[in-house]
Amino acid sequence: MSNAPPMHDSGDSQPTARMILGEVASFGVARGTAVVRGCVENTPIARHVIEESEGAKEIERFDAAIVKTEEGMLRLRQQIGRDRGEHEAAIFDAHIAILHDPSLRETVIALCTTSKLNVETALSEAIDTLAAAFARLNNPCFRERAADLRDVGHRLMEALTKDGRPESLCFPDGTVLVTGELMPSVIAQLDEKAIRAVVVEQGGQTAHSTILARARGMPLLIHVPDATRTIHTGDRLIVDGWAGRVYINPKPEIQREYDRLEADLQAHKTALKGLIDLPSMTRDGTAIKLCANIGKVADAVAAAKVNADGVGLYRTEFVFLAQDHFPPEEDQIQMYRATANHMENREVRIRVLDIGSDKLLSYFPLAWEANPSLGIRGTRLLLAHPEILQAQLRAILRLSATHRVAILFPMVGGVEDLRAAKAAIERAKAGLAAEGKPFNPNIRVGAMIETPAAVIMIAKLVQEVDFLSVGTNDLVQYLLTTDRTSSEVAAYYEPLHPAVLQALHRVANEATAHDTDASICGEMAGNPAFTELLLGLGFRSRGGNPGEMLEIKNAIRATEMQAATTFAHQILQLSTSQEIKDSIRNRNTHRETGKGRKVP
Ligand code: PEP
Ligand code: MG
Repeated sequence: MSNAPPMHDSGDSQPTARMILGEVASFGVARGTAVVRGCVENTPIARHVIEESEGAKEIERFDAAIVKTEEGMLRLRQQIGRDRGEHEAAIFDAHIAILHDPSLRETVIALCTTSKLNVETALSEAIDTLAAAFARLNNPCFRERAADLRDVGHRLMEALTKDGRPESLCFPDGTVLVTGELMPSVIAQLDEKAIRAVVVEQGGQTAHSTILARARGMPLLIHVPDATRTIHTGDRLIVDGWAGRVYINPKPEIQREYDRLEADLQAHKTALKGLIDLPSMTRDGTAIKLCANIGKVADAVAAAKVNADGVGLYRTEFVFLAQDHFPPEEDQIQMYRATANHMENREVRIRVLDIGSDKLLSYFPLAWEANPSLGIRGTRLLLAHPEILQAQLRAILRLSATHRVAILFPMVGGVEDLRAAKAAIERAKAGLAAEGKPFNPNIRVGAMIETPAAVIMIAKLVQEVDFLSVGTNDLVQYLLTTDRTSSEVAAYYEPLHPAVLQALHRVANEATAHDTDASICGEMAGNPAFTELLLGLGFRSRGGNPGEMLEIKNAIRATEMQAATTFAHQILQLSTSQEIKDSIRNRNTHRETGKGRKVP
């Protein structure tokens, strides 16, 4: 992403009009006046070398800062819990866990005692080192935990240097906050009425601060290079959180364009809200199950708000990620229950831990592999570590006594994997029965279809399960032998590749033939521009992030099933991704599919 040159200069008396680009993390359009500030203003640190005799005193100061910071965090947690609900407050549990992470304290102590640094410098260096280790990870979910770590580090530094007095977070009405990095504890305390939008130089799609901005419906642009230098406090801004643009001191003609756009979006938003209680059904009456992909309790809340038919994919990695050790069975039950409670009687499909390759847990190091994405991961990894699998299966089974939950296995390689995984469920059931602990003996079991082998064996696999969930993020990676995390080969990562569509068609056909629910839940399912094609390929069940669900429902309700089937069959005759993209683009320009994402 690059900054565009000034659009025009407006003379000495007028501020310069410019437009800069960023990545949309939370949708919406807003205007306001810029307030530029580093939310993690690096408090200037006086670096000095200490005497050996001062080491113990510095450690004492650090421990006192931990206590003070925890008190502040608990107060904040309580306030957020009261104002915004438990789901948002829970983010601060993760921060308290970071605060007590032994590796943070150990690193600080080593720097004070061995390198003889004063505690402020030691803390700053420890946070930089640990955050850099996170930042090097491939998986964005893990990488973005670096922001949580820096947030905790910042609060600790305040406790050390400013006696814990927080920075003022009061902003005038109509502020667009422009900052280097947005900390979760900062966005949690922002006055939503005063802040219209946020523009951030760093950030991430799955960062906690992004989740909080989305929950507040606050437009957020991330990865806006040099925003804090290009934008000045007092600049008038239009933040286009659809196109990923920030207009700085825009000319009247640009403003008029946005008057029109805002009126349009307002009408669209009102229309979408009207869909919440309408059925997810094509124009000609075919019911399509619309379930949410979730990772956190907050997502379940959002899914319930848009009346999702259930949770199609609960990625439990987040539960494990927020800890510094494997959560015991009781803790897992509590966490899954907190999520399932929000879905009332709708099914929640809990995917057992899917780690390995780019998804790593700091406390569970894996042996080095030359090709980790072809190595020990997903169900394979769980079968090799039955103690991890058993604890999770027991937790889900125990919850099934009171909640409508199902078990989903990731990255299934074939029938052997699946049978071994099902045998593990039977062992967990036998153990619980022997202990007199209740569970649902008929708990439903599903398999994720994410590997070419699973697609080829689909006619057999479908007979082994109650439902299928097609993970296109990985399926595209493995079918096209293209790393989903590599920017080098991003051009080859093509969900609309004919091989992918042939594979999807095959899965949908077998599922229909066996009257088994097959839901498509990778990122491509969340793009309303693909809705008609996916319906036409035979999927009657769809996943999506909660924020995408009304757009998808809108696209479903605009689809005629017969026409979708004919269209999908035409698409299946094409030989290249480009032909397929052109064909979808051309068709969507003639249909109303909402204002959602477009064909890339
Ligand atoms: C997928 O691979 O499409 C999927 C849904 O799983 P994840 O993105 O968590 O690997
Ligand atoms: Mg996957």
